[in-house]
Amino acid sequence: MYWINVETRPGKGYPKNWETQGGWFTADRNNIPLPNINEDYGAPWEYNHHEVLKTEGGDSQASNLIPSPVPSGSNAYASNWDEDVGKGTFPNSYYFYLPRICNHCTDPPCLEACPRQAIYKRKEDGIVLIDPKRCRGYRYCIKGCPYKKIYYNPVEKISQKCIFCYPRIEQRKGNFCAAQCVGRIYWVGYAEDANSNVYKLVNKWKVALRLHPEYKTEPNVFYIPPLSPPTYSFAGKLTTSPRIPIEMLAKMFGDTYDQSYDQRVARIRQISDIIQSEREKVSSGGSSELIDILISRSETERFQL
Ligand code: SF4
Ligand code: SF4
Repeated sequence: MYWINVETRPGKGYPKNWETQGGWFTADRNNIPLPNINEDYGAPWEYNHHEVLKTEGGDSQASNLIPSPVPSGSNAYASNWDEDVGKGTFPNSYYFYLPRICNHCTDPPCLEACPRQAIYKRKEDGIVLIDPKRCRGYRYCIKGCPYKKIYYNPVEKISQKCIFCYPRIEQRKGNFCAAQCVGRIYWVGYAEDANSNVYKLVNKWKVALRLHPEYKTEPNVFYIPPLSPPTYSFAGKLTTSPRIPIEMLAKMFGDTYDQSYDQRVARIRQISDIIQSEREKVSSGGSSELIDILISRSETERFQL
């Protein structure tokens, strides 16, 4: 159970192929499958680090690491199964990372799906929570969530999910995964707070998009689509095409549920142009609010709560 997971794209994601499993937005709600506990989440395994890394007489070759149990058959899967695999052929191979937490959606189908009214959205900050005392583990919420960000805990026999570290948010601190991220890739704030950097990235500079807005849940996590270096032509010359195909990004990211595919492609191109032009401004000695936000390091710059 990973309340946050980081997927490599292209890849199947976690749980496996979650984008094809459906959710409450699909017409036939009765036929949405539950992720298969073994095949889609995989079986966790341990490595013999204690043997391989011991110093006296030990042989600390990575090749001596043996997983136990050895992943095999249909259970051979894990949250990082596709890590860094990507697509394309050298020198034009590519991949990028997609961190995923619960989107604390504005219109959360997990909440709608629960017959026990165990799921609620807090008025004060929009965080979506499961009341563990009301949950009976029916798992309709897992079927309802198209992002598959609710997990069944077979020990507690209840469903569980990311709580957006609400006790920290109440203290106006950033959620833990955002605060601890060494890449400092997260900004946290309220969408309507015009002074927050989240507002500036989403509404002022318009460089952040939703993941699969066509699921119609109005997810509240936004992503800046990845930039990538240009491809090399067969003759070894740099082209003007980005290595990560824009078409692939447009299938994942957009502004609203009713945007057409062509509009999404145009937006990805526009965002790339905006960032590129602001970078050039800074390279030639100027300043840019957007680039300042994108390279911000301190928590006060990244979290406005
Ligand atoms: S991402 Fe899924 S679990 Fe989270 S609020 Fe949206 S529908 Fe519910
Ligand atoms: S916001 Fe908090 S609860 Fe949610 S994934 Fe990040 S660290 Fe975990």
